[in-house]
Amino acid sequence: ARAALQHAQKLEAVGKLTGGIAHDFNNVLHVIGGNVQLLQLLCKGDERLQKRLASMQSAVDRGAKLSSQLLAFARRQPLQPLVLDLTRVMVNMDDLLRRALGESVQLAIRADDGLWNTLVDPGQLENVILNLVINARDAMPEGGTVTIALDNSTISGDGPDAAPDLAAGQYVRLTVSDTGTGMSPEVQALAFEPFFTTKPVGKGTGLGLSMAYGFVKQSGGHIQLLSMPGSGTSVVIHLPRSEKAETEAEIAPVCDLVGGG
Ligand code: ADP
Repeated sequence: ARAALQHAQKLEAVGKLTGGIAHDFNNVLHVIGGNVQLLQLLCKGDERLQKRLASMQSAVDRGAKLSSQLLAFARRQPLQPLVLDLTRVMVNMDDLLRRALGESVQLAIRADDGLWNTLVDPGQLENVILNLVINARDAMPEGGTVTIALDNSTISGDGPDAAPDLAAGQYVRLTVSDTGTGMSPEVQALAFEPFFTTKPVGKGTGLGLSMAYGFVKQSGGHIQLLSMPGSGTSVVIHLPRSEKAETEAEIAPVCDLVGGG
């Protein structure tokens, strides 16, 4: 519990710092980007210069994407939880996830009949799921399968399914599994840290799992990594059950963040 508190405080401090930096950095990029565009107009006909300018433009674009991810991380939007059947959320996301996975990675979705409802912010949950699926894709460069499973899970205070840092109670369990590279124990120990990434510069921000961690904790749930180097990773999320009937509300379409981690 102490470690969880320290983690939350660290996330908050990093969030504040990051928000400020990302904002100023964005202004700097605007100035650079504007001047690059101007130069592109002034240097029409000079191919060598145009090539250089195009590569500057793409670096500016990469920076802008990074800073918008940082801002999303720092903003810590308040949750707008609804009572939801996650089966419906998955149906809603099916298309987007398949597009994010491309041709070589299969997607399998399994849901228990009679799945309990949960109280959760649908937009933020969709972003978390998308991030987990992109991580799974990145761990399977040679292709493979991502499985998303939904089931009811009762955690008892003691006995075989007691979990040391998961309060006894009823949960909806969401598991995202892949058949990819897996994580070494060292990577697993650091994976939830903000900005920890093993991906090349420009590809990973190291924010996907720490955002997932913050969101799940804030929703009263629990997130855990199970990973075997060489055989794959499962991210297991427990979200508290809601006994209420599903909120009759439109689920907002997920924003298209494909490409980031
Ligand atoms: P990013 O994806 O931008 O690197 P994350 O916080 O989502 O940031 O992930 C941190 C690191 O955890 C990744 O760089 C990777 O090393 C590891 N990781 C996350 N998901 C998986 C996965 N499904 N399989 C293997 N490694 C993973």
